[in-house]
Amino acid sequence: MKGIGASPGIAIGRALVLKKQEILVTGMSLPNEEDVQRETEKFEYAVRTAVGEVEAIKATLPEDDAGLEVMEVQIELLQDEQIRTDVIGKIAVEKRYASDAVIEVIEAARETFRNMNDEYFSARMADVQDAGNRILRHLNGSLPGAGQMIGATQILGAAQIVRENTIIIAEDIAPSDTIVMDITKVSGFATQAGSKTSHAAIIAKAKGIPAVVGCGAGLDIIKTDDLVIVDGSGGLVIVRPSQSKIDEYAAKKIAFTKQAAVLNTLSDVGACTTDGVRIHLLANISSAAEMQESLAFGAEGSGLLRTELLFMGRNTMPGEEEQFEFYRSIAAGAKGRPIIVRTLDIGGDKQLPYFGLPAEANPFLGYRAIRISLDRKETFITQLRAILRASQYGQLKIMLPMISNIQEVRQARAILEEAKTGLSLADIAFDKDIALGIMIEIPSAAVTADILAKEVDFFSIGTNDLCQYTLAVDRMNERVKHLYDPFNPGVLRLIRNVIGQGDQHHIHTGMCGELAGDTLATLLLLGMGLREFSMSASSIPAVKNIIIHNSMERAREISQHVMAMDSSQAITDYLQEAMKS
Ligand code: PEP
Ligand code: MG
Repeated sequence: MKGIGASPGIAIGRALVLKKQEILVTGMSLPNEEDVQRETEKFEYAVRTAVGEVEAIKATLPEDDAGLEVMEVQIELLQDEQIRTDVIGKIAVEKRYASDAVIEVIEAARETFRNMNDEYFSARMADVQDAGNRILRHLNGSLPGAGQMIGATQILGAAQIVRENTIIIAEDIAPSDTIVMDITKVSGFATQAGSKTSHAAIIAKAKGIPAVVGCGAGLDIIKTDDLVIVDGSGGLVIVRPSQSKIDEYAAKKIAFTKQAAVLNTLSDVGACTTDGVRIHLLANISSAAEMQESLAFGAEGSGLLRTELLFMGRNTMPGEEEQFEFYRSIAAGAKGRPIIVRTLDIGGDKQLPYFGLPAEANPFLGYRAIRISLDRKETFITQLRAILRASQYGQLKIMLPMISNIQEVRQARAILEEAKTGLSLADIAFDKDIALGIMIEIPSAAVTADILAKEVDFFSIGTNDLCQYTLAVDRMNERVKHLYDPFNPGVLRLIRNVIGQGDQHHIHTGMCGELAGDTLATLLLLGMGLREFSMSASSIPAVKNIIIHNSMERAREISQHVMAMDSSQAITDYLQEAMKS
């Protein structure tokens, strides 16, 4: 079965199929007024107990555990004022049973995330569902009456994994299930749903457990105790394998383990080519916890802090204080390493309900990122003030997303100056020389890099959007995904131009799109002159391994060769061959 390889490695073990539990919506109204009081109290009690349960799990986790953040998100959601008001309102006004009210409110909250149509944020649906299930578990177990079924799912048995070498098979894995289960006995995950950025994937990666997500309904054929192979590197799940398959994968597992052991020793090694050129490898992050996790992979800082996460999944804008605390904690956690904070990149596929923006026919070509920031100056100033204040606690740089022309840079710089002046007048300290850079992710910016370079401190190439805009391929559209290709010669020429212009104008150029973590592209990009790569933290060791075993001379030869080629097929075939030697 083919899925998405979400965490690399090979696992061979026995399946434990975690079933979802359907929860009934009674569809009935509360018969008496006093039932309202009883159902409200039941709900309040269930929330308190659920919070206590999560606090108890949290207390067992070590300080640097990736699960701590998941648990904190759970507590926040359980105590979410909007969810509470909505549930109590449904009980009081619509005369709903507490369980029905919870299911309906959670379903509505999930819908908000689902509509965001972004793989990262739709993955957050799992958090909301998880919180809802917790409350439901603590409401009276026997639900009154019968009615329509809805898909409120709950994974059962996660805490009962007793056997070594278990492979968890599930529709999806709720964030806290990965914490409740005895993870030391889990050797692999395979899920029907999920994406590379779903929580199960993030935790599997952080714990080094091979995982394949998004396998679809085909996983249904697996029964508990079936022998299963999970190939997290190749994105494959093999059910009831033959002896020869088992032998083949056992050998792959040994090879992977050896390779991983070598890569793990690299976290403290500098990424230097064999002829002594120092390359900087950084992590793309969205939170302080991810900053911490990235250090273990040898990240030298963050080349992209996506700030959207802080603004999502809530009903109001985070204020200056909350934003300041968010940036401050990340800056402090980086322990002197640089962090590039990207200003809000909302719009397109990431909408904020409280912005109240009308739907657009072409959201990726519409009101997005810097366009919104320049239009909503107060929002922009608040974010800039918070970043500036946090710049006292670490080495922060500011990066503007979706720049398409020089006027946007000038306007943004003027607003930054205004924010600085405001802070100076109030005697609030900040880094007066904070660097201001831009993402190069729109073709016009890539082509006019020579113009832009004169007015910014650095470039960071965002290949995810650069690819979609250059090739006119919506990055979210399944039907055209075969055309979404960063090795297209058109995209590569733009990248080469940006790096070249950055060099010529003596400004620093990094890359923070997914291509930066793709080992097939490492030597090509090095040869083009790229010196800073920012990626998913777990990709750092593999990219570093290529750098330390190759010379700049070889990288240049490869890139010259590639840039003379006429198709991405020829380029990827050639790069694959080059990687073997
Ligand atoms: C990019 O476009 O390459 C990028 C890094 O930004 P995002 O994926 O957040 O749009
Ligand atoms: Mg982008």
